[in-house]
Amino acid sequence: MARRRRLAPVLLACILAAALTAAFWLGLIPQRFSPLAPLDLAHNDAWFLDFRLAALRADSALCQTVLKEPFIAASAVSDQAYKSGCGWHNAVRTTAAGGARLPASQISCPMAAALAMWIAHDVQPEAERILGSKVVAIRHMGIYACRNIVGSHVMKPFRSQHATANAIDIAGFALADGSTVTVLNSWKSDDAKGRFLKSVKKASCRYFRVSIGPDFNAAHANHFHFDRGAFKSCR
Ligand SMILES: [Zn+2]
Repeated sequence: MARRRRLAPVLLACILAAALTAAFWLGLIPQRFSPLAPLDLAHNDAWFLDFRLAALRADSALCQTVLKEPFIAASAVSDQAYKSGCGWHNAVRTTAAGGARLPASQISCPMAAALAMWIAHDVQPEAERILGSKVVAIRHMGIYACRNIVGSHVMKPFRSQHATANAIDIAGFALADGSTVTVLNSWKSDDAKGRFLKSVKKASCRYFRVSIGPDFNAAHANHFHFDRGAFKSCR
């Protein structure tokens, strides 16, 4: 009985810690109550980067202060109320991110921030180091789509993160020297383009909860899928 009484506070502390972690993970802690400073797009080495990105999810005022030039050209768009699991909240329209064109009619604020950081801190330096040219445009295959997950029998009944503008499918990159790099043509290659793709794909796991590509399944043979949903998977 005494042992049980001694364990009770430990158990309570564990439950509290788990609940707090879940709240940060889901972006439920308002910035004014958070001990973490707001996300700064200039610093991708900040502690608890994922929690700082998550904090943008429901906070449109914070989103407006964080999504700034020169890292991203973004403006707020009106919410679209969720209907049958589709719609968006606290999304932005973008024209550029990390110094590259990135046209998006609506993308969730945390995804926009994650993309800007990934392009500025990883895609651009790796493009210059490996390919000798900057990236001028991100070629993507879509962001918002009111649909379920495709390519997995188990996940088929569930809404995709695309249904809430919380995902992007990246097909490739246009470079300043006029060349292009596509996931479809170069992922399996050992040349510079292939090395560049593998390097930036690996780096993406720092910013996105899910980062999957051609090695995941055949449905992703021609693109990287990035999202900031509740699950973590980097393959
Ligand atoms: Zn996708």
